[in-house]
Amino acid sequence: MNSKDDSQSARRFWNSKTKALIPYVPGEQPRDRIRIKLNTNENPYAPAPEVMSALAEINSAELRLYPDPGSLELRQAISAYFGCKTDEVFVGNGSDEVLAMAFQAFFEPTGSGPAVQAITFPDVTYSFYLVYARYYNLNWRTIPLDENFQVPLSAFASPSGGIILANPNAPTGIALSLDAIAWLAGQDRNRLIIVDEAYVDFAEASAVALLGEYDNLLIIQTLSKSRALAGLRLGYALGAPALIEALERVRDSFNSYTVDRLAQTAGKAAFEASAWFEQSRRRIIASREKLADELRERHFTVLPSSANFLFVSPPGRSGLDFYRGLRQAGILVRHFKQSRVDAYVRISIGTEDDMDTLVRVIDEMLL
Ligand SMILES: *Cc1c(COP(=O)(O)O)cnc(C)c1O
Repeated sequence: MNSKDDSQSARRFWNSKTKALIPYVPGEQPRDRIRIKLNTNENPYAPAPEVMSALAEINSAELRLYPDPGSLELRQAISAYFGCKTDEVFVGNGSDEVLAMAFQAFFEPTGSGPAVQAITFPDVTYSFYLVYARYYNLNWRTIPLDENFQVPLSAFASPSGGIILANPNAPTGIALSLDAIAWLAGQDRNRLIIVDEAYVDFAEASAVALLGEYDNLLIIQTLSKSRALAGLRLGYALGAPALIEALERVRDSFNSYTVDRLAQTAGKAAFEASAWFEQSRRRIIASREKLADELRERHFTVLPSSANFLFVSPPGRSGLDFYRGLRQAGILVRHFKQSRVDAYVRISIGTEDDMDTLVRVIDEMLL
């Protein structure tokens, strides 16, 4: 085998683009002493039993065959769920992949013509947007959230080359109303707005209701959070057929089989498991509200969350210190170093037992 030095020296094969990359850093998947994992907004409950039985029924001989590149049955299940047409649905290997394809499909790279307008997103949001904007060499611009971490709508209305918003936003959990999204979409119908609804099932309403009226909206959702299938890697986009066609063109220029047979089968079952879905999201919302009350009683600052996590700042301690204290006690949450939010930690909503343990540990820490 190569010595370490040799393996480093093989970096000489990196091209200039690879050298310049600033990759996204996902939350840890720890193997050690963590008892309670509340750092990546996974669902604390097992997926729907319908999903598990659909997987169990897969005939292993079928894995010999490539999957349907168009994921037709899965897209039919998704369109039936939303009451839209199948050609208004695109599916991909997690919504991160769908987002990446949307960045490629809809925005011009810098240097491709005169003054490319910037794609715009908030300064505090899902950090993958900046990673993709750089990766695809796009002109981008951030607009600061206001002092209450709200999206300043009028600033977003000013001319730009496109808008991407997580709604509810991450890591704040704060949601914009449908009226706000509709207003923004109506400001310039020649500008595309991508709404990343990774957490919308824990919120009031989805912008899917606006799709009939605005063909400049693309909505992206995932099965990773509300459907408890982060390990399966399935995400999807909903929008006008021509937007979906653009995503298909990008996908088919890269990898025709982004969604495998297991994911197509399990994903379809997930959309049919409505009783499980309703129960699990209600349970998580109830736990979120209970934890928010308990933390406010303990003088935490708790941002109003419409997601499956809370963004909180502890009294009399830095965010980093609080993160470390919880970690010591075997509870893993997420801390972001960005200066605007470093007083906060993001706590994913776990089971009721997880939340009781968390509050007990906090009470011991604050003594
Ligand atoms: C979790 C998350 C995603 C990615 O979800 P996957 O489908 O697991 O790739 C996208 N956007 C936001 C805001 C998220 O929090």
